Amino acid sequence: MPPGQILDGKATAKAVRTDVAEGARRLQAQGTQPGLAVVLVGDDPASHVYVRNKDRAATDAGFAVQTRRLPAETSQADLLAVVRELGDDDAVHGILVQLPLPKHLDADEVVQAIPAHKDVDGLTLANVGLLAAGRPGLRPCTPAGCVELLDRYQLPIEGQHVVIVGRSMLVGKPLAQLMLARNATVTICHSRTQDLAAHCQRADIVVAAVGIPKLIQGDWLRPGAIVLDVGINRGEDGKLVGDVDFDSARERAAWITPVPGGIGPMTIAMLLANTLRSAAESSGVPLDSLGLAAR
Ligand code: NDP
Repeated sequence: MPPGQILDGKATAKAVRTDVAEGARRLQAQGTQPGLAVVLVGDDPASHVYVRNKDRAATDAGFAVQTRRLPAETSQADLLAVVRELGDDDAVHGILVQLPLPKHLDADEVVQAIPAHKDVDGLTLANVGLLAAGRPGLRPCTPAGCVELLDRYQLPIEGQHVVIVGRSMLVGKPLAQLMLARNATVTICHSRTQDLAAHCQRADIVVAAVGIPKLIQGDWLRPGAIVLDVGINRGEDGKLVGDVDFDSARERAAWITPVPGGIGPMTIAMLLANTLRSAAESSGVPLDSLGLAAR
């Protein structure tokens, strides 16, 4: 069998971002510039890189971006006040609080303070509930990026057996809901799952969202499977490595995402798409006129 083909998240994200920029141009022609606010607390170096990348991508798409950088010692009350101020600002259509927050802060309370219609990370209880109920809402960016990547490669989801390793609120659980909504058969695995390899061997599509470098081995895969590697881990040599052992997995898979250059860029692209969606809805512009699908 020839080695698996690469699902190029970087190139696909670029295509999504081009579409979003075109949608933003059309929305602006009707008087609304999409606005994204990013809130960053403290000095975590990885968070600073993520925020810079999001700021740049949103600016490139023609959005108005404001990044609020707050000191690590910011109090819960002060942070909540910033989030509420952004919530009341009509020029801001999307609010993103970069996680993790410093330990003394209650991240859940901060996230829940974001108005649901500006919750472009899809993490408020309102959006979690809307997704579970199969109703329109803002979807978490990483799972939405997984689905978008498969769609852009025209790889089928309906009827496929999707095995998701990881059950976080950020990735695993919402992805399971999105896949169910697309008529996949879904298995969710986690740290207490027995015989993870056996579950993976039954999958048409394996999604790894764990945070353990190279956990998923090539011989756990059915020949011809599709592999999405969400994991971002720092290897001993300082390089980024996924949750899948890429070299052995590629020998078995039909399609596989690399790390970096797979799901990571798709996540940022979906953040932009969510912000455009939110800006369109707040100004009453039909989504399809901006190239956005109704959900
Ligand atoms: P969490 O730590 O919140 O969740 C990890 C999940 O993996 C948990 O459900 C946990 O199970 C499960 N798990 C842990 N160990 C095992 C094991 N040995 N076997 C099977 N399952 C296991 O992580 P996130 O979901 O936030 O992130 C997962 C990975 O994805 C990380 O590497 C993160 O950096 C990356 N990530 C990448 C993004 C991107 O843009 N590409 C965005 C978000 C995350 P249990 O519930 O039982 O504890």
